[in-house]
Amino acid sequence: MAKKPTAIVIGAGIGGIATAGRLARNGYEVTVVEKNSTGGGRCNQIMKDGHRFDVGPTLFLMPEVFEETYAALGEKMSDHLDLKRIDPTYTVRFDDGTQLALTSNIGAMQAQLEAIEPGAFGGFLRYLSEGQQNYRLSLQKFVGRNFYNYFQYFSLANLPLLFKLKALVKHYDNVDHYFKNPHLKAAFTFQNMYLGLSPYDAPATYSLLQYTELAEGIWFPMGGMYRIIESLTAIAERLGVHFIYNAPVERIEQDGQQATGVVLQDGRKLEADVIVVNADLPYAYRELLQDQSEAKKLDKKKYTCSALMFYWGVDKVYPQINHHNVWLAGDYKASFDSIFDDNTLPAEPSFYVHAPARTDPAAAPEGQDTLMVLVPVGHLDEDQPQDWAALKDRARATVFKRLQEIGVTDLEQHIKFEVCYTPKNWQSLYNLEKGAAFGLSHNFTQVGYLRPRNRHAKYHNVYFAGASTHPGTGLPIVLLSARLTTERILKDAGVSQASYQLQPATA
Ligand SMILES: Cc1cc2nc3c(=O)[nH]c(=O)nc-3n(C[C@H](O)[C@H](O)[C@H](O)COP(=O)(O)OP(=O)(O)OC[C@H]3O[C@@H](n4cnc5c(N)ncnc54)[C@H](O)[C@@H]3O)c2cc1C
Repeated sequence: MAKKPTAIVIGAGIGGIATAGRLARNGYEVTVVEKNSTGGGRCNQIMKDGHRFDVGPTLFLMPEVFEETYAALGEKMSDHLDLKRIDPTYTVRFDDGTQLALTSNIGAMQAQLEAIEPGAFGGFLRYLSEGQQNYRLSLQKFVGRNFYNYFQYFSLANLPLLFKLKALVKHYDNVDHYFKNPHLKAAFTFQNMYLGLSPYDAPATYSLLQYTELAEGIWFPMGGMYRIIESLTAIAERLGVHFIYNAPVERIEQDGQQATGVVLQDGRKLEADVIVVNADLPYAYRELLQDQSEAKKLDKKKYTCSALMFYWGVDKVYPQINHHNVWLAGDYKASFDSIFDDNTLPAEPSFYVHAPARTDPAAAPEGQDTLMVLVPVGHLDEDQPQDWAALKDRARATVFKRLQEIGVTDLEQHIKFEVCYTPKNWQSLYNLEKGAAFGLSHNFTQVGYLRPRNRHAKYHNVYFAGASTHPGTGLPIVLLSARLTTERILKDAGVSQASYQLQPATA
């Protein structure tokens, strides 16, 4: 029997696990080496005193993409995840007391929108229809495919699409065609923060997010987001993938035009035919590949924002706080300018609160609550290092103050414990360059063929899968990255598409 091709995957983030599983299903002998004691990367969990926190992602979007990943690994998603739809998706609160519960219930949306701006419901329907077109076209033509050369991306066939998708129009400017009220313009653009982008900079294409949320739904896996990681890891292990934890990779070994393997920090050497880097791409070029010239170029690129996080175990339940909640700053534009131009915490920060026990009581002890607060902030800035201790205190004080608007007046006294992450934690825990929570930015010049590619230009057996390569950040998009990178590896190995889609698990 022919020897199986071998692969090492550096990092057990969702992108690493999914790529490892896909490669194993296609006949590779795969080893995943992860620096931490558990997999999941940013999609992790904290368990403390009966409280269960999702560390990073809390919004399960685009279920069809997850479904496709489980199917590619020979499984049905519904056998592994018990998904509950969250509707209203979230409550958005403004500084003058106005609130909007975004929902798929058209009647409820109509009443709320018309109360804020007469005629806005028509704008909402047109906006969603544009979002649907952006979603379908982007997925099919740009996000869900590899570009093997410049001409494929900038082909004459694609150029009209760039205009159709409004890729060169700023999202905040575009939303003016649908709403005039500043609250509504904010309510339908702040979601760009999921990609770590300002709506004043993001292409209008990203209205696709609002469409997916309201039309395809926001879901939550019972047991928490970490169920996705646990189930994908178990499936990958059944397919033969070997996971090694507490195994930080120090460098990728190279010989001429090829990478030969990896050296772990403890000195162990592992060899393989193919290396897949799931660790953040700019970090990997600088540290693992020791390519200082490429690292310098990557340093000059735009990065997404970071996030200050509070994980609070609370000895009381506040029913006013829903599963997903957003508080928006009064000076919407200034808040983005502070984050993206000055790399700091805005004077008036916006923030998000996650209360998973509203849907899944097992997330907190009975009669108590589990709250995660995400405050977007600038990424680490070497030229002007930020005082995170002071910024953290100011962020916490803002959260307490604004929660008073909904009658939550005594939260501070009921917090049993706090775990806090600053951008420095994102950097040290997961090696995220500049502590940028979502990786490299997704502005027009950093997407598609213009984004760092999923195969190394010189070492053709080094591949990348994850948030900072093509197509980009967010769990479903990283799952697409895993698919595209696997496709590329198999194509390079001369495996035809028709055969790898059908390859049985034991091949
Ligand atoms: C606060 C926050 C909120 C988010 N919210 C959402 C959301 O609601 N919905 C959504 O879809 N997405 C969300 N995201 C984005 C999503 O979490 C990421 O896009 C996704 O998890 C990235 O996965 P990845 O596999 O690319 O990278 P990672 O999760 O970063 O995994 C990379 C892995 O590589 C490991 N590693 C790094 N260096 C080494 C080394 N030298 N040796 C060995 N291992 C190494 C790391 O420890 C890590 O486990 C959020 C992210 C954050 C931070």
